[in-house]
Amino acid sequence: MTYSGGCACGAVRITVTAEPVAVRQCWCRDCQQLAAGHATVNAIFATDAIACSGTVTWKDRIAASGNRLSWGFCGECGTQLFAHSSARPEFRVVRLGAIDEPHGLAPDTVIWTDQAPAWARWPDGIAQHGGQPPAAPSPQKLS
Ligand SMILES: [Zn+2]
Ligand SMILES: [Zn+2]
Repeated sequence: MTYSGGCACGAVRITVTAEPVAVRQCWCRDCQQLAAGHATVNAIFATDAIACSGTVTWKDRIAASGNRLSWGFCGECGTQLFAHSSARPEFRVVRLGAIDEPHGLAPDTVIWTDQAPAWARWPDGIAQHGGQPPAAPSPQKLS
């Protein structure tokens, strides 16, 4: 499966040639601020399966763990596109909203539920973690 995507203005285009290792909602406070009050929704892919054209603007923050967290977005229109952690360079998040429909992807996991507001809801039956979940398995590219 190949996924395409990009930002709202079209300056950045994305192609992914793998299935995600996970699709997660994240309700951490950083994500709520980034996503205008809701969870972010993050498809996690092997970094080397992602190709990108156009200019991505990156901002970094040092997390409590000491890891550097980086957010990538279109500097022209502001669409959030990517995220990654210095602790796991082999993986990169593509924000689900940046992937072209119909992609058929849906969250399989919700994380940082401890920081979610009381009104937050997520799909029945998906895996739940109050905080950061265990590390994802190693990347597997489609043959
Ligand atoms: Zn844009
Ligand atoms: Zn988060």
